[in-house]
Amino acid sequence: MSKRKRSDSRQTNQQPSPKSSSKPSLQEHDELWRQRQWVKLFAEVTLKIRQSLQFKEILRTTVTEVQRLLQADRVLIYQVLPNGTGRAISEAVLPEYPQILDLEFPEEVFPTEYQQLYAGGRVRAIADVHATDAGLSDCLVEFINQFDIKAKLIVPILQGLNSHESATQNQLWGLLIAHHCDRPHQWVDFELELMQQLADQISIALAQAQLLEHLEEIVEVRTAELQEVNRSLQQEIIDRMQAEAALRRSEEQLRLITNALPVLIAYVDDRQCYRFNNKAYEDWLGKSPVDIYGSDLQSVWGTDCYQRMQTHVESALLGHIVTYENEITLKDSLPCCVNVTYIPHLDDRKEVKGFFALTSDISDRKAIERMKDEFIAVVSHELRTPLTSLHSALKILATGRLGTLSIDGQQMLEIADDSTERLVRLVNNVLDLQRIESGEVKMEKQVCNVSALMIQAIEAMQPMAQQHEVVLAMKPIDIEILVDSDYIVQALTNLISNAIKFSSPDRTVWLTVESHKNAEVLFQIRDRGQGIPSDKLESIFERFQQVDSSDSRRKGGTGLGLTICRKIIEQHEGRIWAESTLGKGSTFSFTLPRLNA
Ligand code: ADP
Repeated sequence: MSKRKRSDSRQTNQQPSPKSSSKPSLQEHDELWRQRQWVKLFAEVTLKIRQSLQFKEILRTTVTEVQRLLQADRVLIYQVLPNGTGRAISEAVLPEYPQILDLEFPEEVFPTEYQQLYAGGRVRAIADVHATDAGLSDCLVEFINQFDIKAKLIVPILQGLNSHESATQNQLWGLLIAHHCDRPHQWVDFELELMQQLADQISIALAQAQLLEHLEEIVEVRTAELQEVNRSLQQEIIDRMQAEAALRRSEEQLRLITNALPVLIAYVDDRQCYRFNNKAYEDWLGKSPVDIYGSDLQSVWGTDCYQRMQTHVESALLGHIVTYENEITLKDSLPCCVNVTYIPHLDDRKEVKGFFALTSDISDRKAIERMKDEFIAVVSHELRTPLTSLHSALKILATGRLGTLSIDGQQMLEIADDSTERLVRLVNNVLDLQRIESGEVKMEKQVCNVSALMIQAIEAMQPMAQQHEVVLAMKPIDIEILVDSDYIVQALTNLISNAIKFSSPDRTVWLTVESHKNAEVLFQIRDRGQGIPSDKLESIFERFQQVDSSDSRRKGGTGLGLTICRKIIEQHEGRIWAESTLGKGSTFSFTLPRLNA
């Protein structure tokens, strides 16, 4: 029936025969016309294949169109699977013949050696499958009979055909097969060529499909990656916004707290410019935060005040915590005593980025201290005269010139004398300290020989040493210094007296002096007495500080001696400190500048 239809269609499509003998014969004309039609159809098929992105659809179009073009009974595409078996994956077949589509073929039907031949580009055209030279395997003959195959044309579909790689690397992907089922058919070159070209088109489509698939995979992966990046970006934005909001909140809280405090709080950067300041700046200096933000210290505080700050600021910017007292001028031009603390701000690499500045008003404290000092000075001064006469009266009584006292009476007199002596010492010490601190006395510096000072101090302390059975030793040194000799001798005698007081009998107290290259003269008073606990080594220089509060009673001290010593040494631009080992002894050292320094 199909053949009939086919021959009918050939007849209906026949063109009128040419009259002239120079013109092609009817048969030739028919063939030419058919070839033209095929070329046209082939172009259409190629276009259809190229327009389609769906590989399955391409295969379907190919078999349908090839069947139509070749007027074959069956056209199919056979895919060779990696395990050597195969399957018909697309088919166009006339209804009267059995379908091969989706049938799976064992390896024997299409053995590996055949596959290799086809991979090399072999085309097989068999006009009559039953002819003796057809050379088909038994297995294939059985299959051929089953599906009414009389003639077959097989062209390979190769993979990698459109790549620039060599043909040997082409792989056999499948076969494009055409069948004639009603009778043998002599395949003409044109049919072979057409089949081959269409198989090539399939190869191209296959490569494109694979490329597309690959692209789709890449696109899918990239899309997933982009989505992920997008998600994490959004997350980061949210986190950042939250962090910024938290930062803003904590900054507001900080501002709220610092604004409520009656002290100046600021952050100053390493260029000495304000980066933060609280409201107190406005209240104290009458400058708005806008005026202060970004301004440098000098412009905010004025040249005079800045000069008093400068060394401390520089020290803070070197990474030191600094505390000092200063006098500033408030907005109403009133002076104000302040205590200033700078705390350096270091970054991760330990570099100073700036410092926090805390400034508190200590005018009231200073005023109270002044009042207290003045009060003590007045009281001490007023006490000194009656005390001196009391002391003299007691001394006269002790001589017995005014009458003899009983033994008990004499003991009472000694206690009264001792206590009065301590009281006189205390009053004298308080007055000394007050005079030095207030600047009432100026150090009268003169060139003095160190050994002369040492001898003077040792001689003065000799009676006390003998009384305590302590030996005084020294090594005089012949250098000159510029000092107030009275005050330096006072400091030396005070330190020697402490050393004697806290030594047991038969011990030696050493007074030594060294002249240092670094422009200093070092005085040292060394004893082998009871020693001082390490946590007291600094505090004993404070007023009325004693290691043991009973020391004042037992040893007759006032707790002011070391404070006076420190004041005297500081007035001479020197330093004083103590070192000690409990139970082994103590060394008190002070430095004074050398004359020729
Ligand atoms: P004081 O009049 O009490 O000696 P100081 O200011 O001179 O007052 O000394 C304060 C305290 O330091 C003393 O009370 C004592 O506890 C301690 N101290 C000073 N010198 C010595 C020393 N050489 N050995 C042990 N303790 C000492």
